[in-house]
Amino acid sequence: MTVGTALAVGLCGVEGSIVEVEADVGRGLPGIYIGGLGDAAVGEARERVRTAAANSEMAWPRTKIVVSLSPAHMRKHGTGFDLAIVCAVLIANSDNAEAKGRLRRTVLIGELGLDGSIRPVRGVLPAVLAARDAGARWVVVPEANAQEAALVDGIAVGTAADLQQLWRWVLTGEGIATPRSGAPGQAEFAVDLSDVDGQSQARFALEVAAAGGHHLFMQGSPGTGKSMLAERLPTILPPLTRRQQLEVTAIHSVAGALDQSGTLITHPPFVNPHHGATAAALVGGGAIPRPGAISLAHHGVLFLDEVTLMRPAVTDALRTPLETGSIAHVRTHHRVVFPCRTQLVMAANPCRCGAAYASECTCTATDRARHDRALSGPLCDRIDINVMLTPAGAIVGTGEPGEPSAAVRERVVEARERAAHRWRAQGHAAELTNATVPRARMRRQAGLNPEAMALLEYKLKAGELSRRGVDKVIALAWTLADLDGAATFTFDHVTTACGLHDEKIY
Ligand SMILES: [Zn+2]
Repeated sequence: MTVGTALAVGLCGVEGSIVEVEADVGRGLPGIYIGGLGDAAVGEARERVRTAAANSEMAWPRTKIVVSLSPAHMRKHGTGFDLAIVCAVLIANSDNAEAKGRLRRTVLIGELGLDGSIRPVRGVLPAVLAARDAGARWVVVPEANAQEAALVDGIAVGTAADLQQLWRWVLTGEGIATPRSGAPGQAEFAVDLSDVDGQSQARFALEVAAAGGHHLFMQGSPGTGKSMLAERLPTILPPLTRRQQLEVTAIHSVAGALDQSGTLITHPPFVNPHHGATAAALVGGGAIPRPGAISLAHHGVLFLDEVTLMRPAVTDALRTPLETGSIAHVRTHHRVVFPCRTQLVMAANPCRCGAAYASECTCTATDRARHDRALSGPLCDRIDINVMLTPAGAIVGTGEPGEPSAAVRERVVEARERAAHRWRAQGHAAELTNATVPRARMRRQAGLNPEAMALLEYKLKAGELSRRGVDKVIALAWTLADLDGAATFTFDHVTTACGLHDEKIY
């Protein structure tokens, strides 16, 4: 028997599937051919595995070697197949049944250095999850990825520093290191809402945004605390569930944005790209699609500061993903989808110079026109809550520390539970927030309060609210009711919601 088999994982975005690597060592001129829709990095594995094996004093066959990666229809990217390729070749001529059996139960993930060392790769967490779900008993990963792999329960994790150590384990079942599982979660937040003095209006808007999952837009002069508030939104959001933690960590792993300590991302992430960022940086992309800022902010907060300075093409690219909660990148032969259910927070100065058309405003007419145009942009359509921060609001503090995040978070969690219970009772997924419940359903529920509906009808006719605005006000009214512990929203909730929404119709 001259065919060797080993297992690896191929990733498509954050979805992994098992790849079977077969190596046929036969007669013919020495050489190695790798087939099965691999990219350039997979093709280059030829020289890497041969050199690494030679430098590790392995008996590399001096004949023709054909390696096939299957399923053949699946695109394979990167250097993570090296270990499986080298083991499939080395085992091909062996009659060690025990070793062959071990390779059949083990998924190998890692890149080989020319000296035989095993190097870290991206996306280990989703790869190990896929290996476990496919029924693999063991997974071997590079040492530097050990903690990340150990986050996954239900599969034994081994790590090897180099090819010699790995091969010894394949042959004998001994000599591999096993990392301790249960890597620590993230440390507590470094910031807290108690740091914010005054700005009671904005703090209230932030709480409502958190409780209903509503998108928020803060306008105010520099120094009024817009970034400070935005940064603290994750501290009052409900903690991530275990499933959400793994989802978020997997995205960061694929993006290469995880540190080697293998820390599980346990808090809602906060991502704040620069206003000069490209569309690709925001929504992801590339020949092998990588997640962008909006996906890194999955189950967390995407903060766009100075949003009026962003190019319209860039903000426009965010519109659909924000609505659908996922973004697809289509490439030849494959399609990669990244989730991006994120809460948007935007901030802007009231004008380009920040003085808001007051006597000291130095903006030109062109500046003002550009600023106003940016505010009427498509992304502003997605905003549920508009809040104006005034310098006076920052001054009217008591000097005492504000209410801490933990206390606000408690109310937010209760409100979200009330909303989830209501929408679940009507057959919706438990994860829906007031901001994401289908509009038609929301409208039908709104009929509960004819007095409030009459007000909205009036505002619609008077041109003070758009159709979309009416839906947003109703969603906000539900959130206010949830925060109050009320069974349904009242007329007062609707008027408060109108104030929070305060739509500008251009
Ligand atoms: Zn100005």
